[in-house]
Amino acid sequence: MKVILLGPPGVGKGTQAQKLQQERGLLQISTGDILRQAIKNQTNLGQQANDYLKRGELVPDDLMLSLIAETLFGDRAPQDYILDGFPRTIPQAEGLDKLFKQHGDNLDAVILLEADPQAIINRLSARRTCRQCNSVYNLLTNPPKHPQKCDACGGELYQREDDRIETIQRRLEVYTSQTAPLAEYYRQRGQLKTVSADGTPAEVFQRINDTLGG
Ligand code: AMP
Repeated sequence: MKVILLGPPGVGKGTQAQKLQQERGLLQISTGDILRQAIKNQTNLGQQANDYLKRGELVPDDLMLSLIAETLFGDRAPQDYILDGFPRTIPQAEGLDKLFKQHGDNLDAVILLEADPQAIINRLSARRTCRQCNSVYNLLTNPPKHPQKCDACGGELYQREDDRIETIQRRLEVYTSQTAPLAEYYRQRGQLKTVSADGTPAEVFQRINDTLGG
């Protein structure tokens, strides 16, 4: 099964993708995580992407499309996965369609997570991420047992630089202008399913699971 998770930053895509990985065996492919890892390792990709992430802007489409082509259709191509953070623009979605066509493959579903913008700002500023395994917590709604330590691996929890209030605003604007139009793109293709992101992670997961079916 191949699924895209769409939705504004902070709506809970990462949390839900991790649950889908645990419960349904879909591999979580987070382009944000891949880019942050590349920046940490100071690879060529990391050097090219660093400034964009810092500013809350999108990394250019050609760079993202070659990254996704390699990740999805390279030597270690996964069978079942969930895309968390890709595509983020219409050209990325068109590029992905082309790749699927070339490889005789297709998408199973696109899930759009929807939430109220103020709730998103609150969630993002309370988000903490594990440096080691990328698990995501929220100090208000999904707190770790220990405020600075990951429950899953004991790694250090930190606040992403782009989760600070100045950058959050910019990321939400970028979402509205560049990523939100993807909902219409996939709706026209009959692939879009909308799920409310209100409530606890477990409640949202239940809705996603029902939407995907057995
Ligand atoms: P995320 O962890 O999904 O919130 O992504 C963090 C940042 O990585 C974004 O604000 C962008 O700078 C960059 N990024 C992640 N995925 C993409 C993408 N598909 N296209 C362009 N930039 C991306």
